[in-house]
Amino acid sequence: MATWDHETDSCTFGDIDVRRVVDMEDGAFPASHLFPDSNLEEISALSQRFGEKHINPETLDLYLSFHAYIVKTEKCTILVDACVGNDKDRPGRPIWTNRSGPFLENLAKQGVAPDDIDFVMCTHLHADHVGWNTKKVNGEWVPTFANAQYLFAEREYQFWQQEQAQISEPIMYGSHADSVLPIMESGQAKLIDTNHEITTGIYTEPAYGHTPGNMVLNISEGSKTHAVIFGDVMHHPIQLAHPEWSTCFCEDPQMSSETRTSLLSRYANTETFVLPAHFQSPGYGPVERDGSSFKMKDGIGEK
Ligand SMILES: [Zn+2]
Repeated sequence: MATWDHETDSCTFGDIDVRRVVDMEDGAFPASHLFPDSNLEEISALSQRFGEKHINPETLDLYLSFHAYIVKTEKCTILVDACVGNDKDRPGRPIWTNRSGPFLENLAKQGVAPDDIDFVMCTHLHADHVGWNTKKVNGEWVPTFANAQYLFAEREYQFWQQEQAQISEPIMYGSHADSVLPIMESGQAKLIDTNHEITTGIYTEPAYGHTPGNMVLNISEGSKTHAVIFGDVMHHPIQLAHPEWSTCFCEDPQMSSETRTSLLSRYANTETFVLPAHFQSPGYGPVERDGSSFKMKDGIGEK
């Protein structure tokens, strides 16, 4: 059975290679802000269980990573989610503002140059999933991945277009304007159905709730689903213990919780890897049932 190699931050499934590319780690969020339904007593108990990579034992802040996945098949190279990005102005989000992070260097360490990317697939269009879609050149936002087709769910894109039409300020801290619209204007965007096959066995699936057009990406060969890139279906490992907790960023918290529970139930006690967008390392692998909740097979979240 496949195992996630923490040294190289990658895993090989048959002929398909999946690699993690970090934009930023250790983003600290107060639990009560991120998960409005949580309480500090429970977070304190969970901090013993999940450890200090995931929860600060003193402040009980929750740590999030912001990373992309590279999916490499014999036919193409796909970047899934484009993280936060550099040089972006994000009023109200200091940790995302005017960054000069090493994402492209980390991509190079994984053996991939920006021009090698054939597809960029954004699970949804929040600011922390579209940032590297563009880079600043001579004061203009241009596509970072010159040869790529960018895949956005049409219903997701239309939802945010409607949101923008209703208010005068830039939506999503400005990311729609600097990281999505320039791709539409360059002609590199393709608006897709939320059920879309990118290449043989690699296909999107609706996972609504976090946003109205949120998707996961299935990585399969024949009838076997090797892995599911989970995007923001889960934000933090404590949701294995409390799948009913949705974040303050979820457009429809109830639907988000139902989608999370349904996908975790589908893959629990199988060999399918669950690959979330914001879990710190270690946190990528198969999941198991743990009473009425879940844990990761490598012991993360074990009671
Ligand atoms: Zn996110």
